[in-house]
Amino acid sequence: MRYALVTGGSRGIGRAVCRKLAEMGYFLLINYQRNDTEAEQTLRLVREAGSDGELMKFDVTDPVAVGVALDSWNARHPEAYIEVLVNNAGIRQDNLMLWMTRQEWSHVLDISLNGFFNVTQPLLKNMLVKRYGRIVNIVSLSGIQGMPGQANYSAAKGGVIAATKALAQEVAKKKVTVNAVAPGFIHTDMTDGIDEGEWKKHIPAGRFGTPEEVADLVAFLASPSASYITGEVVSINGGLYT
Ligand code: NAP
Repeated sequence: MRYALVTGGSRGIGRAVCRKLAEMGYFLLINYQRNDTEAEQTLRLVREAGSDGELMKFDVTDPVAVGVALDSWNARHPEAYIEVLVNNAGIRQDNLMLWMTRQEWSHVLDISLNGFFNVTQPLLKNMLVKRYGRIVNIVSLSGIQGMPGQANYSAAKGGVIAATKALAQEVAKKKVTVNAVAPGFIHTDMTDGIDEGEWKKHIPAGRFGTPEEVADLVAFLASPSASYITGEVVSINGGLYT
């Protein structure tokens, strides 16, 4: 059995990634924060895709909770290790910097940037010992070019991009790759309030992307075929200039 952990797997891009990795034969550890019903739906889709999985509920900002969940999994699977990690959990809390609260700043950074550290750090050792691992971090166009109203989100994603490049160089010799995927506008709950009619005028492809399109890219980077790609940031945005 090969194991993959997807943070924020209950909805949106994370759900599509879980489904795709299940098609590739992975047993899915589906992390989420609070939405039990949606997480159970992801598990059903994983099973429909011909594999199996289990729910792993924890808040990625809480290192103690992450440790408890992973230690408990390791105790139940002493021979196994998690060879694919997709750091996907993320939120946005947009505001112009002028009015941004410390809470809005910290919370967004805490989930994307500290969440990346909290989950990746404990999983690294086994990947290095087994000499195989795939880490894919979901970042954003916002972390590459910066978006007004998203100083917090741009900083969080930009931080993960820099960490991706640094970590990739630390672990490349042990056949562990670390890459980032930077979506533009994708149809999920996160973009629910955004006026597609207005924004699609600026997108050369003339539409928002789908979670499944992002999942196909993540799946490739998570596959053995992507063995010589590391430290990269791959944009998936319908041609928006980056
Ligand atoms: P989404 O539909 O809002 O789903 C967010 C997921 O993250 C949910 O599964 C949620 O769990 C989970 N989550 C949130 N906070 C968490 C925490 N503290 N601990 C654990 N899980 C947590 O979002 P999405 O659009 O699929 O976005 C997925 C990733 O892609 C994010 O990193 C986002 O920044 C990035 N992204 C999205 C777009 C886009 O256009 N949609 C563009 C660029 C980048 P619950 O269901 O339990 O709340």
